[in-house]
Amino acid sequence: MNKKILLSYPHMSGIEEEQVHRAFESNWIAPLGPKVEEFEQLLAKRCVMPYALGVNSGTAALHLALKLACVEPGDLVLASSFTFIATLSSAMYQGAEIWFVDSDRDTWNMSPGALSAAFQTAKGAKRKVKAVIVAELYGLCPHMDELIDLCRAEGATLIEDAAEALGSTYKGRPCGSLGDLGILSFNGNKIITTGGGGALLCREKAQREKAFFWATQAREAAPWYEHTQVGYNYRLSNLNAAVGVGQMTVLDDRVARRRAIYDRYKTELADCPLTLMPQTKETFSNCWLSAMTLNDDAGITFMDSLNTLAAANIETRPLWKPMHLQPLFKGQPYFSDGTSVSDDLFSRGLCLPSCSAMSDDEQTYVIEQIKKLF
Ligand SMILES: *Cc1c(COP(=O)(O)O)cnc(C)c1O
Repeated sequence: MNKKILLSYPHMSGIEEEQVHRAFESNWIAPLGPKVEEFEQLLAKRCVMPYALGVNSGTAALHLALKLACVEPGDLVLASSFTFIATLSSAMYQGAEIWFVDSDRDTWNMSPGALSAAFQTAKGAKRKVKAVIVAELYGLCPHMDELIDLCRAEGATLIEDAAEALGSTYKGRPCGSLGDLGILSFNGNKIITTGGGGALLCREKAQREKAFFWATQAREAAPWYEHTQVGYNYRLSNLNAAVGVGQMTVLDDRVARRRAIYDRYKTELADCPLTLMPQTKETFSNCWLSAMTLNDDAGITFMDSLNTLAAANIETRPLWKPMHLQPLFKGQPYFSDGTSVSDDLFSRGLCLPSCSAMSDDEQTYVIEQIKKLF
């Protein structure tokens, strides 16, 4: 293949351009504007959450969620270890202390057993847990009802990082609506994109208003610029929202296509010494990325696989390096329910090209090249 086959890239439908054109015609370019409102309404409806606030990244949405959870310097936050750094940077911005929680083997996401162990240790140390940030990687969902029960019992705010899970459902409930607060991302590599953006999902009007206030420089109601608190510039532009409005019309197609890509990898690689990421009965996954782990008898490491496939013009990527292994978080407590699952996943896993715009021929080529690894 001459063309490099990428992991995941923006997949436009044509409708986005029309939407952006309308924004131009009305001269609603930035900031805010009617497309932002329309996009927010589409998101709230899709995720079955009362309120959505469009912002300029998923990271910004997480920061607003942490502020709504009243996380302040020195407060204790528990978070998924197996995730992307952005899940936690917001807690760092707030000066929180973060303890890390391992994943379950069957969901790849936060283990209720490990979370319970973390809560117990916090109790023993007479520390109150302010918030728990739960990631939903690659569109997979943890055993969320168990996590919700644990957080309720301890009075901790559950923040659902659904950046990778828009379009997934858990027991029929949409991802983004499972926690006390949810966030989405529309970064360029996500299942739909606004060319950069994110959203906060919340249940109360007052929460949305507060988050909007912080996201717009914390400007008080006065004829001049009056400030009593520090704010941020987290607004989503009307142009980006117009792209999002177009992308929402094809979200279901994108989910169907990514699920078909996953199914095909699973079927056609069935005889290889590798295992596709798990699915549970509870979760309908958007299969944002098709990820896999090499079996013990693969006879090749994940990095040698990555390099061999790169030489064949195929982009793959290691699974997320767990946060408790990151130099940034050296020495922070980490809780597992038995041997660490996230360490094991990182040591043997790869994400495969999964873009909804990938052609059948391209996937055939990827499958052939993977088979040649063994
Ligand atoms: C992409 C992503 C984010 C952050 O989203 P941005 O829009 O890039 O800031 C947060 N968490 C996870 C798990 C992600 O994959």
